[in-house]
Amino acid sequence: MSATSTATLGAAREAYEPVIGLEVHAQLKTLSKIFCGCSTRFGAIANTQVCPLCLGLPGVLPTLNARAVEFATMVGLAVGATIAERSVFARKNYFYPDLPKGYQISQYDRPLCLGGSLAIRSGDQWKTVRLVRIHLEEDAGKSIHPEGREGVDTTRVDLNRAGVPLIEIVSEPDLRSGEEATDYMARLRQLLVYLDVCDGNMEEGSLRCDANVSVRKKGAAELGTKTEIKNLNSFRFVDRAIAFEIDRQVALLESGGRVVQETLLWSSERGVAEAMRSKEEAHDYRYFPEPDLLPLDLTPAWIESVRARIPELPHQLRERLVREHKIPEYDAEVLTETRSLATYYEEAAAKSGQPKLASNWVMTEVNAVRNKNGLAIEAFPIRADRLGEMVRMIADGTISGKIAKQVFELMLSDPAAPGELIRRHGLLPIDDEAALRALAKEVIAANPGPAADFRAGKEKTFAFLVGQAMKQSKGRAHPEKLQSALRTELAEKG
Ligand SMILES: [Zn+2]
Repeated sequence: MSATSTATLGAAREAYEPVIGLEVHAQLKTLSKIFCGCSTRFGAIANTQVCPLCLGLPGVLPTLNARAVEFATMVGLAVGATIAERSVFARKNYFYPDLPKGYQISQYDRPLCLGGSLAIRSGDQWKTVRLVRIHLEEDAGKSIHPEGREGVDTTRVDLNRAGVPLIEIVSEPDLRSGEEATDYMARLRQLLVYLDVCDGNMEEGSLRCDANVSVRKKGAAELGTKTEIKNLNSFRFVDRAIAFEIDRQVALLESGGRVVQETLLWSSERGVAEAMRSKEEAHDYRYFPEPDLLPLDLTPAWIESVRARIPELPHQLRERLVREHKIPEYDAEVLTETRSLATYYEEAAAKSGQPKLASNWVMTEVNAVRNKNGLAIEAFPIRADRLGEMVRMIADGTISGKIAKQVFELMLSDPAAPGELIRRHGLLPIDDEAALRALAKEVIAANPGPAADFRAGKEKTFAFLVGQAMKQSKGRAHPEKLQSALRTELAEKG
């Protein structure tokens, strides 16, 4: 595309509103598959976690995994969905090499959960994305294609994944950009991980999504023709594929063409979404109720017992941190990235007695080291109580923020208490009055101009003199005592 046509598209793009809905597949963290006892462990040798049932051999009967139902119900309750007291499994018939039965057991017209919503960020606003439904289903196997694999010359099928329990979470078309879709995915992932029902590992395929994308002229009530982009398995792909498809549809409509309803596959190598199959050849799944499974009946008491086991959710935790620790909403957002990071913060805040200062240290210094080394907070070398102890020493004036950074560096590789490290490395603060007065004298002598200005009433130069003295002491001077020593010295020779 030439520079001119890109600019024209940019202008035309402004006249359109993208409409996006996501279908997210999340693998439930059960030990065994949804209808048999085979293991769900990821990474096993191909076709070692299979049995006659998940291979679809004749004469087998599925048995529903109760834990999968419990996990799916938990997700439904957490998003405020209505849990159906009766839901029905259905056969979704299609032919594919990774589906030996010739059908997938899913739920069709009577899903487990209906409705609900998820709050996402849109710019600096919160926005509610409505959900259509959440249903239970089994995963298919995996085709392993020869491209890029040494010693493999044909496509092979691994059925370890066949029968792994999934939930499909279908949103209303409430999303308006790739960024909103990415935030939705990220918040859904966070919720599932908080609930401990999905490991959220996108690289291993535990969470993936299909995006339905259409565009319409701004202000139009009718929806445009949509396309579906299949199997997006990273946040970056969600963002890029949707942005690509919006631009493609706008360019097509602007050049007088029309969007054809079709299924697209995102190629991350080439950065394009390409047609997989068009609507004309699309499958008729011939859904019908699964004859080998009874309807799934749940009692209200059982549903309530699941509700009682729901832990504190991300938005509840955020609100509580703001309320109890008086920290800004932004801090709470960063600190609740994972449940364990929030726990770490709360321990450090309690130990320090300084919730905001503790928050600053976790968000900046702790997170910087973690990001640089790819460390989960569980593996971070400074435990929360030690960090809290150091923050307390800053707050009570024992050490300056500058010395604290040196102490923090030492703590990363030395498990000793911060007080001990301060002593051992000669970082003890200078708080002796005589020493501070001598330091003040020196700084005044070295900066006669600013000293004279201060004496003439220019209060502003005081901060400069404090800075010089701090620098001279290599950050060790006790801040308040230094200030009072400086004032005394400045007053004396005024
Ligand atoms: Zn099996």
